[in-house]
Amino acid sequence: MSDFRVEEYSTDVLILGGGVAGLAAAIRARERGAKVVVLEKSHAERSGNAGSGIDHIQGYVPEFHRQIGYSEEDMIEDQYGWGGNPGRLNRRDLIEIFVRHSGHDVIELERYGLKFRFADSKLPGGFRVVPQWHYVPTSYNFEGRDLKRALNDRALELGAVILNRRHVRELIKDGPAVTGAVALGTRDRVVTVVRAKTTVVATSGITSRITAGVTGSDTFERFAAPSASVGSGKVLAAKAGAAVVNLEFSALGSSYGLVNYSFSAGLPGGTWWPAGRVVDENGVVVAERRYDLPLDDPDYRANYRRDIEKSGAQRKKIVELLQQGQVLYFDLAEATTEELDYIWWSLGHEGKSGVTKHYLAKRQVDLRKVKFPLRLGARRDVIASGVWVKRGTTETEVDNLYATGNELPALGYSGGGTALVLGYATGVEVAERAQTIPAPTSDAAPWVEALLGQVERITATRAGQTWQSGEHALTTLLDSYLGKPYSEKNLTQLAALLARLRADLTLGAGNLHELNRALEVLDLYDLAELVVAAARARKSSLGLFQRLDEKESAPEQEGVSVGVYWQDGRVKAIRLDNLFREERGDGYFH
Ligand SMILES: Cc1cc2nc3c(=O)[nH]c(=O)nc-3n(C[C@H](O)[C@H](O)[C@H](O)COP(=O)(O)OP(=O)(O)OC[C@H]3O[C@@H](n4cnc5c(N)ncnc54)[C@H](O)[C@@H]3O)c2cc1C
Repeated sequence: MSDFRVEEYSTDVLILGGGVAGLAAAIRARERGAKVVVLEKSHAERSGNAGSGIDHIQGYVPEFHRQIGYSEEDMIEDQYGWGGNPGRLNRRDLIEIFVRHSGHDVIELERYGLKFRFADSKLPGGFRVVPQWHYVPTSYNFEGRDLKRALNDRALELGAVILNRRHVRELIKDGPAVTGAVALGTRDRVVTVVRAKTTVVATSGITSRITAGVTGSDTFERFAAPSASVGSGKVLAAKAGAAVVNLEFSALGSSYGLVNYSFSAGLPGGTWWPAGRVVDENGVVVAERRYDLPLDDPDYRANYRRDIEKSGAQRKKIVELLQQGQVLYFDLAEATTEELDYIWWSLGHEGKSGVTKHYLAKRQVDLRKVKFPLRLGARRDVIASGVWVKRGTTETEVDNLYATGNELPALGYSGGGTALVLGYATGVEVAERAQTIPAPTSDAAPWVEALLGQVERITATRAGQTWQSGEHALTTLLDSYLGKPYSEKNLTQLAALLARLRADLTLGAGNLHELNRALEVLDLYDLAELVVAAARARKSSLGLFQRLDEKESAPEQEGVSVGVYWQDGRVKAIRLDNLFREERGDGYFH
């Protein structure tokens, strides 16, 4: 393995992951004059969850929201309480940062050439705004297919250094501080070392690859989230000593998708809004289509809330019926021609729906006549898991290490809007911090050696397991435990089986591609260990997280997040206070 070339960089700000949040952070940090390097495993122009586009993006829409009497405070309340906020696990401080900046930050995307205003709009500003996670519409529908390209171009224009095809494997530490990272090339035999004053984890943190997919596709190509989303940022942060919270909510069965199509349904709403509804085998409507409300309705907000609560209840019903084995169909029979045009337009911008659109259009499918079967999937609870950050910032408890975008915890949900706005916020924070600290001089050799040692072991084991079989064994094991009611007994059993599987894992690789995939699989095993540890540490039921032995939600769990991280090679679990009732004292983070 000595044939790996080592390249070295030094910078003010290092960003791990060139997704929506990573590029937003790069843009703001460059605007403030900081030197920026981005390490991206894929290619930042089209990488990550938003790589093939997004059709809606959330934020406060001043022109529209003021007209209906909806303030930023209202939006903060809405988001904080969303989904009942079981156990009050949402982080109000982070939600505030998002809402207060979103009115400005989201529409700034227009300056990068993305279209937000439409001649047929009935709303002030000429926008299309659709409902999603608040009690009034808060998501701009926009032409976001090229969102990543636009952010990438802007970051490059401002002088950020974006190193693509670099798979981040190690964080460099110097005492209590993170001082950079080490990455492996995915196309070239190169090890990249970046020494940095501040380091930002922005790798999206999706945990769904530890269980099988939602759409009926095979295990190794993810349709709901890209396969590059392994949760490696969480693993890196936890290894550096930063707590990752709410992982026990991973892989809970709360969502459903279209069988054999590449995008989930999200009915009654999402990309199929407003006309998509759900029917059973006999054509009985289980979830009704929606209608927009006239802006001059004096009870606009109250009526919208009622409408959203009703469709929320219908969504729960869909999950229940699918769990009982009923066959349900997504149906557009009631759509008007105008609504169908709108849906086709949305499909052209919403992520992988472009593929669905292409397929349906090529076969001249009449969307009003075809019925698409639904299938239950496993997905995270609405309580987003993420890297714990200090109150009112995106800075972790580990010196000079930040987290952003969907790596952040408990925003009520994760989406492109929060990723963008919090990414910008992080960019400002790290640029300011970088001005106050000297350039690190730490020795990266131990981390480079650790990586090359791992590479050596895998490539020397050509006859070993393929990365596919290693991943398949893991997802099969986890699928039979995760998301079902937990008990001390079944979690102990799962932990023991996982440890055995890990001990027997002898991954082999014959080329760079297989090598990088094998390293991803190691991250999946590490992530699984964290998930199981978190599930064991949360002793009582909460929301979708159910324990057979402790059914009741204990009052002392109110506002308490379970955090996990590694210390001296062992996973430690701690309790963290989401409500910040106690300021951190000695031993609070231990
Ligand atoms: C199909 C689809 C459609 C969606 N539609 C919408 C929508 O319409 N509206 C909306 O608001 N949200 C939507 N989302 C969600 C939205 O895309 C995400 O919330 C957003 O992209 C998260 O931004 P992020 O920067 O945190 O992560 P990402 O944008 O996913 O970026 C993470 C980046 O990190 C890189 N990375 C990962 N691991 C490593 C590593 N070890 N080393 C180096 N790089 C690494 C990845 O390659 C990726 O580029 C959609 C998601 C999907 C999958």
